[in-house]
Amino acid sequence: MRYSEALSLNDSHVASLLELEQSLYARAADVDALGLDLDVEMAMLRSAGLLSACVPREYGGQGLGCEHDAHSVLTAFATLRMLGRATLSVARLYEGHMNAVKLVALYGSQAQKAQWLPLVLAGQLWGVWGADGATPLSATLMSDDASKTRHYVLHGQKAFASGLGLLDQAIVTFNRGAQGVALALVSVSEKRRQDKSAWRVSGMKATWSGVYDFEGVQIEESALIGSPGDYVKEPYFEGGIWRYCAAHHGAAEQIVRLWRTRLVQKGRAEDPIQLTRLARARARLVAVYSLLRDVSLQVETCRGLQGQNNVNEDDQRAAVEMALLGREMTEEMAVALMNDARKALGVEAHLPQSDMERICRDLSIYLRQAGPDGKLLNAGRLYLAQAEDRTRLW
Ligand SMILES: Cc1cc2nc3c(=O)[nH]c(=O)nc-3n(C[C@H](O)[C@H](O)[C@H](O)COP(=O)(O)OP(=O)(O)OC[C@H]3O[C@@H](n4cnc5c(N)ncnc54)[C@H](O)[C@@H]3O)c2cc1C
Repeated sequence: MRYSEALSLNDSHVASLLELEQSLYARAADVDALGLDLDVEMAMLRSAGLLSACVPREYGGQGLGCEHDAHSVLTAFATLRMLGRATLSVARLYEGHMNAVKLVALYGSQAQKAQWLPLVLAGQLWGVWGADGATPLSATLMSDDASKTRHYVLHGQKAFASGLGLLDQAIVTFNRGAQGVALALVSVSEKRRQDKSAWRVSGMKATWSGVYDFEGVQIEESALIGSPGDYVKEPYFEGGIWRYCAAHHGAAEQIVRLWRTRLVQKGRAEDPIQLTRLARARARLVAVYSLLRDVSLQVETCRGLQGQNNVNEDDQRAAVEMALLGREMTEEMAVALMNDARKALGVEAHLPQSDMERICRDLSIYLRQAGPDGKLLNAGRLYLAQAEDRTRLW
């Protein structure tokens, strides 16, 4: 399917995104320099309807990131790239929100969806906290004889807890031994449990991805989502990395735009070496754009086409392989492109607090996502696990 058939610049959603992009971009330098959090930005997303848009249509949202039709998938893809162009920290928080709502839509019970999704429609911001702190998160089931109810008591911390102080609730992962990784939706608004000082990094400062201490927090048994092991089910676990790649791609596109503008302003755009360097960056950007767009469609439509309970294993394997390869190519593209942009502009690309310096700083750290070596290894294994004739690129 051609992109323009599914989503065009005349689409009212896309038009409103471009306005929002400009407003977010205009604040990004100050947010970074002053060490602010993203409360204003999240209010902007809320009033633009982007937080509630992630809720499935059946529950009153637009299904951004969780519906299977091409229009919804490409709208989610465009939205994440737009946020990446505007400011990567906002894109990070929004990607986590989209992922959290999707996990509830996929694995939550009807009762949980009916209870929780209206909270997102009302403006709540969610996230997914998977990375553990010094003590990995665990949960002990306790019974209250008097009320004849059961609840869990949590132990340990979550690190890399993006949106610390801003999220209303997070989906946390905890290990249940041989049963696998379990999920629970937990309130994370207790200030005394939030350690923002643990987030000491050069970029992505505004995500405040510090540590949240869950020691002693009690959650109802009904806060658990799905069954242990659901979290890592494909094609949505590794397959879902297209979402952060879309954000990375948006930032890379912004770097090329800034680079082009400065070359023209400096009167150096006609220099053949400068021009070929810029053209190579544009080629990388366009190639990875096409790849990621296809990956998003392949991952998100592979179940929808056959119904949730009738997954073709080969389609799923192929979708996950493509997502992992897409991640590898996004990283290669972004690293090469930042390097060339710096060569092209010289020292000015390194001036502290310039837009170019800030975006490269943010992108360099946001590219460091979990287990990149393992992901490429997995891509190789998935390639070999498919019959050769299924891997032909028609
Ligand atoms: C801005 C930002 C926001 C984030 N927000 C969240 C969030 O909200 N929720 C969340 O759950 N996580 C979040 N994360 C964490 C993210 O998902 C990763 O867990 C984290 O970025 C990995 O960091 P690292 O590069 O130090 O990892 P490492 O795992 O230490 O990887 C570093 C290198 O070591 C390799 N490696 C990894 N394991 C091994 C091994 N066993 N043996 C040998 N080599 C190995 C890797 O392939 C890589 O090359 C965030 C990260 C960033 C940067």
